[in-house]
Order: sequence, then structure tokens, then C-alpha cells
Amino acid sequence: MTELLFTLPDLPTIPVVGETAAYPIGRIFCVGRNYAAHAAEMGVEVDRQTPFYFTKTPSAAVLSGASVPYPPGTDNFHYEMEMVLAIGRDVFRATPEQAIESVYAYGCALDMTRRDLQLAERAKQRPWDLGKDVENSAVFAPLTKAADFGAVAKQRIHLEVNGEVKQDATLEELIWNVGEIISHLSGFYHLRPGDLILTGTPAGVGPVVAGDVITGGIDGLEPISLTLTGAD
Ligand code: MN
Repeated sequence: MTELLFTLPDLPTIPVVGETAAYPIGRIFCVGRNYAAHAAEMGVEVDRQTPFYFTKTPSAAVLSGASVPYPPGTDNFHYEMEMVLAIGRDVFRATPEQAIESVYAYGCALDMTRRDLQLAERAKQRPWDLGKDVENSAVFAPLTKAADFGAVAKQRIHLEVNGEVKQDATLEELIWNVGEIISHLSGFYHLRPGDLILTGTPAGVGPVVAGDVITGGIDGLEPISLTLTGAD
């Protein structure tokens, strides 16, 4: 075995309801603007021709229940409540009907965002990495196997800050559905087990500050929470 110069921190693994084995994190893909009301509040129109994506580094992942520091470099750190898809088999150039069969599990996730930096990057037509690929910004609740969740339909998706409801929508509002997202993405990547896809956030995004407690849920899935501690 190759001797290493140093060791990296272990990546978190995501618990799965009813399983003793956990789901290891491979890649983290995120869909942008997948709810019309959120696109509108961001001052942009939804592109109905094609979905678009950004990614988060797997080392940005933390599990629900964590306490994380308010990150450096922002004065406008936002929550985004999202449903995440956990891929369970190889999928490449799949039709939507084939693609949906590749979902191993669903879960609640948070896409924490330096909104001030994301908007500045957007205005300058630069990549969104500083805004989106934030340390501790990909938060995952325990996963629920697809067979136990059933079909994505009108399930409620919601988020609260310190108990006050901020986001409240249904999965019916997704512009690109689960099969369409995976099918499209599989035209560009050999998707495989370990790949996670955050499916976008509904309207109602907003800032949090040190000391805030974020909670969220999707009907039929395990709830999510995150606590923000003082500035790093
Ligand atoms: Mn998002």
C-alpha cells in the first residue's frame, strides 16, 4: 500500500433509515432555479430549455444535527431547503424512465449559500464557487429508500428558522422532475452510486445569523436541522 504524506479527514457518510450500512458520499451536484417562485425572487427567469448545475466539494458535507460556524467572507449567509436524490446504480445517457430507476434513496438537504458572493459572481458572469462551495454548506439528513418513500408528488417541503416558517411549498412545483434531472445530467457524467443531486430550493430563501437554528422537512422523509455558531 502506498505510504501517504499526510491523511485527509474522513468524509461523513449518510445514514439510511432501516439499514445498518451508511451511504458514502461521492459527488455533490446541485440544480439551479428549479422552482419558478424562487427564480422570480432571485430576479431571474427559469430556463425551461435545459436545467443547469453547480457542484459542491464532498468535503463540504455535514450531517443533520451539526453545529457549524458562520462562514468567513459573507454578510448574507442564506439557507436553501432542498430534496436530495441519492444515486444507487450506474446511469449514463438514460431516458427519464430509466433514470428514475437509479434513485436509491431520497432525503432532506440544505444548500447553504453566501448569497452576497453568489450574486456578485453572477453579476460579473463569474463561476459561483465562493458563493456555493462553502465549507459545511451541504447538509444531509438520513436518507429514506426510494421504495419506502414512493413517488414524488405533492409532498410538502418546508424550512423554519428558530421555529418560524420561511419556506413552504410542495414537490409538485419542481420544474424539472427527478427523472428529467438525472436523465439530463447522465448525458454529461457517468453517474454512479455515491452521487448526490440536490434538486433546487423553493421560494422564501433568506439570511441566518450566528445562533440561529434551522429546521426543515419533506413529508415522508427524515427531518433536517443545522445550528449556526459564532463567526469562524
Ligand atoms: Mn440550491
